[in-house]
Amino acid sequence: MSTATSKTTTYFNLIDGAWVSSSSGDAFENRNPANTDDVVGVFQRSTAADVADAIDAARLAYDRWRLVPAPRRAELLFRAAQLIAERKEALARDMTREMGKVLDETRGDVQEAIDMTFFMAGEGRRQYGQTVPSELRDKFAMSVRQPMGVAAIITPWNFPMAIPSWKIIPALVCGNTVVFKPATLTPLSALNFVKILEEAGVPRGVVNLVTGGGGEVGSAMIVSDDVRIVSFTGSTDVGRTVSQHAAPSFKKVHLEMGGKNVVMVMDDANLELAVEGCLWGGFGTTGQRCTAASRVVVHERVYEAFLEQFVARAKGLTVGDGLDPNTQMGPLVSQGQLDTVMQYLEIGRSEGARLMCGGRRPSGAMYANGFFHEPTIFADVAPSMRIAQEEIFGPVVSVVPCRSFDEAVAIGNGVQYGLSASIYTQDINRAFAAMRDMYTGIFYVNAPTIGAEVHLPFGGTKATGNGHREAGVAALDVFSEWKSVYVDFSGRLQRAQIDTADL
Ligand code: NAD
Repeated sequence: MSTATSKTTTYFNLIDGAWVSSSSGDAFENRNPANTDDVVGVFQRSTAADVADAIDAARLAYDRWRLVPAPRRAELLFRAAQLIAERKEALARDMTREMGKVLDETRGDVQEAIDMTFFMAGEGRRQYGQTVPSELRDKFAMSVRQPMGVAAIITPWNFPMAIPSWKIIPALVCGNTVVFKPATLTPLSALNFVKILEEAGVPRGVVNLVTGGGGEVGSAMIVSDDVRIVSFTGSTDVGRTVSQHAAPSFKKVHLEMGGKNVVMVMDDANLELAVEGCLWGGFGTTGQRCTAASRVVVHERVYEAFLEQFVARAKGLTVGDGLDPNTQMGPLVSQGQLDTVMQYLEIGRSEGARLMCGGRRPSGAMYANGFFHEPTIFADVAPSMRIAQEEIFGPVVSVVPCRSFDEAVAIGNGVQYGLSASIYTQDINRAFAAMRDMYTGIFYVNAPTIGAEVHLPFGGTKATGNGHREAGVAALDVFSEWKSVYVDFSGRLQRAQIDTADL
């Protein structure tokens, strides 16, 4: 898995049960975003040839793995869930070091992988199909799930263990084999996860890990004819490319992409609760969640009161190294992400939004080597402004005034994305109307836009997704196909839709 020198540890790909270096011999460094002097590890910069080897291994392993009874496959997953739980703290620390979010959140990320693995292991005994009466006599009719083959798994860096688990675990329990390419910014958490699957007894070739860039490794996975399903989470732009490149081979493509989520604060809302929710929704994970509450639409009657409290609380957040227990908001994941945030600050200013707090990198020695940014709030944002339309993926919240519930819903729906939305109100009628009318995959009442649980479907509409859902039992639909089976035990030819059963 790794070799260590006094300075850094080098980690390898997992292909066909062996930890191997890239065929190119090239590697890349992964650095701590809170302190770029800290090298987390050195990882393989893989090539299309490595991907081809991994796909071959997965293809060969599939012949055996698909025939292992699902409850037996699930036993390995139960074991894996237990191992993750035993190592939760160390896994969370590695994750904070490689991507920056605070320890409480990385513990939550690991917990999500534990929850998903236990949940899906249970599905090993519950891959229910349907049995239905045939329209003809002495004929039996049923549907069964069947695995698909090699699954290509491509993941982002913001949930370095949770998101891989949402994909790899259901893929495995359904009987598929996996080639996994994690984000270049979070290969260690991916490797930790795969290592545990190996330790739990997942046979060689069933899960293969190939680290490296999206352009080289990701693209090679998508175009291969030996891959039957691609499950991708990441930006909408890259998702579109994935979809286009996968189309000629007619493989199944499951896409989870960007968001521009909204919290709607009505005039009868519990304001303190709404402020609490917007802080967590807007600045949790430094705003780098696909479900982040990056827009807050507030009824004009409570607008100033809300803003005053929200800004005061945001100013009070402690920014720092996520490993420090006092830190409430960690750094951004990379220089690129920090640059994007700073560009959007300029865009917001030039569009005429009112900067209420933040807008700068914090000063001081402890911030000198990290990608830190202050929690930032823009007020008086018009729904059409770019900061209210485009995903920023950083600690920047746009507050938009509205005059009515109907206007809030229209503003909320008025973006290209459709992942998550929420409403703060004491009026149950409004809550239900919003639940019905927001065209998103996830909706919350009196809670922020983040906080999904693993046993319900997760995903979004419009430019956020392509109609699939991960997590919950819905994930089984992503990683399996239906086969309808008819067994005629009449001993004669019976023609459906032509012959009629006697009364
Ligand atoms: P990204 O699109 O840049 O990268 C995602 C993954 O795709 C990475 O592993 C990357 O290496 C790979 N990739 C890049 N180019 C590729 C190509 N041409 N072919 C194949 N693979 C390629 O996204 P990111 O910056 O890692 O993550 C942030 C984005 O992810 C945000 O837009 C966020 O909203 C989204 N996200 C969505 C969800 C969701 O469930 N909807 C969850 C988390 C993150």
